[in-house]
Amino acid sequence: MGLSEEIRNKYQAVIGLEVHAQMLTKSKAYSNDRNEYGSAPNTNISAITLGHPGTLPKMNKKTIDFAIKMGIACESTIAEHQHFARKNYFYPDLPKGYQITQDTTPICTGGKVLVKSEDGSTKEIGITRIHMEEDAGKSIHDIDPFNTLIDLNRAGVPLIEIVSEPDIRSSQEAYNYLTEIRKLVRYLDICDGNMEEGSLRCDANVSVMLKGSKEFGVRSETKNLNSIRNVQRAIEFEIERQILANENGETLVQETRNFNAVTGTTTAMRSKEAANDYRYFPEPDLQPIKVTQEHIQSIKDEMPPLPNALFNKYTSELGLSDYDAGILTDQKEIALYFEEIIENTKNYKSAANWLMGSVKSYLNEKAIGIDEFPISAARIAGLIELIDSGKVSNNLASQKLFPAMLESTDDAEKIAVANDWIQDSDDDSIKALIQEVFDENPSEYERFKGGEKKLMGFLMGQLMKKSRGKADPKSASKLINEMV
Ligand code: ADP
Ligand code: MG
Repeated sequence: MGLSEEIRNKYQAVIGLEVHAQMLTKSKAYSNDRNEYGSAPNTNISAITLGHPGTLPKMNKKTIDFAIKMGIACESTIAEHQHFARKNYFYPDLPKGYQITQDTTPICTGGKVLVKSEDGSTKEIGITRIHMEEDAGKSIHDIDPFNTLIDLNRAGVPLIEIVSEPDIRSSQEAYNYLTEIRKLVRYLDICDGNMEEGSLRCDANVSVMLKGSKEFGVRSETKNLNSIRNVQRAIEFEIERQILANENGETLVQETRNFNAVTGTTTAMRSKEAANDYRYFPEPDLQPIKVTQEHIQSIKDEMPPLPNALFNKYTSELGLSDYDAGILTDQKEIALYFEEIIENTKNYKSAANWLMGSVKSYLNEKAIGIDEFPISAARIAGLIELIDSGKVSNNLASQKLFPAMLESTDDAEKIAVANDWIQDSDDDSIKALIQEVFDENPSEYERFKGGEKKLMGFLMGQLMKKSRGKADPKSASKLINEMV
């Protein structure tokens, strides 16, 4: 659309996201039909899913526990008493004619998610509520050119909806927020976070106002966003569209819009005036839910470590950089592997380097996950200890020992001994070799002695050649400095 910087800078964007996450339960929310993505169409559908008269829903308790986990992770307040509500509307992929959801008593209220804002600082995005509900089936328009097909496998799949406060201020922040939500649900093992398969879905509410204004503008809600990148693109488009409308003196109306990923644009679907009246009322077929403090505590006790807590531990207790901590906590499996390495070695920086370097390169090259990596965390720790004790050099460890460990189940030390890779750290023999290097390179020796410290590299290189790579560089450089 091409807005000038000047006009764009007059406005502030305000964004709130609604995220639907499909729960990784074995069965559906209110029946024991299988909750499985990719089954043959219409195979996971009993009379309950089909909404036949006389059938009754039955609550899947796992969903409640999953929602509580998310609430704990966001520091929300968990409601002790709650009930389900019927949201009535007619649609072909909703055989009951209503959705069982929560209206006035969401399971979680309040809370926050910490995200990186654009200037790199950490920002709290408020959570309005998290509630439980069920998914609808799927209408398929692109298989049969003349008919719409219906697959009801998804109908009744448990969802949580996470509604954010309008605290997000840019499309990049929205991107970071969603990345964080996806990371959280994956850490908690409650949702696979796969946006392409629709197990994590997002509606983006966007408005703009003049900078400094206290009153939010009229928002649009964009649906059909199937990747985090597309959420960002849709928000960018909406910001520009709304600024232009404001500049042209047009009045914006609250409406639902649809995103087209091919063109990167949004189009109006329906205005709020035309919105359904859902006639919410308490779901009469399900008992109200009571969640005790003991139950919440028992879930808390079994929570996995969360990415933020690990990030803080790595930066403040272990002294790692924000960058390292960010990479290490990005994926739960990697973080847990790192946790296991550092149970066996105190050299945290080296543990991080090995994991982010050699280990990750291997995983990328083979396109496998850490769960398939052949070297245990304890053996990596052993490798680090071997280097730190001066028995092998870093170089030898990454060039020879690490590859050998991939092919063997033996410990680093055993492999190094078997291959005669244990380096010479015996001071006297190294000193003799250093003396030879000095004697053979008198001018470099003199210049080094005169203060040209960069010649250390040259001298070390000569020494390494002489010792056939077995001199320990750390103690050797110390000896060189002592001997000049
Ligand atoms: P609805 O049922 O209309 O979708 P919800 O309460 O489910 O309403 O969600 C409203 C979402 O819109 C929330 O994420 C909220 O933060 C966001 N929101 C509300 N007002 C604005 C606004 N003026 N600009 C941008 N987002 C907004
Ligand atoms: Mg909504």
